[in-house]
Amino acid sequence: VLDVEKAARWIHRLNGKIQEQKQYLTDLDQAIGDGDHGINLARGFQEAANAISANSYQDLGALCKDVAMTLIGKVGGASGPLYGTAFMKLSMAWKGQKEIDREAMAKGFKDALEGLKMRGKAQPGDKTMIDVWEPAVAYMAGEGPLNGEELASVAKEKMEGTKELEAKKGRAAYLGKRSIGHIDPGAASSYLLFSTLAEVIG
Ligand code: ADP
Ligand code: MG
Ligand code: MG
Repeated sequence: VLDVEKAARWIHRLNGKIQEQKQYLTDLDQAIGDGDHGINLARGFQEAANAISANSYQDLGALCKDVAMTLIGKVGGASGPLYGTAFMKLSMAWKGQKEIDREAMAKGFKDALEGLKMRGKAQPGDKTMIDVWEPAVAYMAGEGPLNGEELASVAKEKMEGTKELEAKKGRAAYLGKRSIGHIDPGAASSYLLFSTLAEVIG
């Protein structure tokens, strides 16, 4: 399902989407946070894309580790350490492998989700990126056939579902009920992460 070439394509596509939707992500964060999510991610993923372009990889783990280190160093805020943790967990799960099957892919994402939960202490329903990660990873690890479009549509639906939720974690939680009615910015960027992955795995 996934090899170093596809993973590199994933990061480049994800970076492209984030650059394209930088203003949108920032607007979402303006409504319920501090208005820097698009700016933070645009900076970090551009650097991550540059970092992996400068290298040729034989190891998915090494590629993900470079992405993780770049995000941790360049993104800042809540999302920098969170996305950094996720890619670090992927790098550990996929260490030494050039190509992985669905099971190994799902294992990496399960570890990444666990890392996110451990780091951010958020659960599904708290109006964070976890609301997209949890169902997307459950779909990947599930029994049925793995279909890219299906993965993207699960992520999209759950991202949109964060609109109805009251934030319990992150800056948006300070707004309490006033956070209702807005899509969570981190859920929106996580949708981009899974929809671009879905495109490269087909
Ligand atoms: P900051 O809020 O520090 O400015 P960003 O704007 O880059 O950071 O990221 C905000 C996003 O991070 C939120 O929309 C939410 O999805 C995610 N987030 C914040 N806190 C947590 C947490 N504790 N667990 C999981 N995700 C979180
Ligand atoms: Mg912010
Ligand atoms: Mg901030």
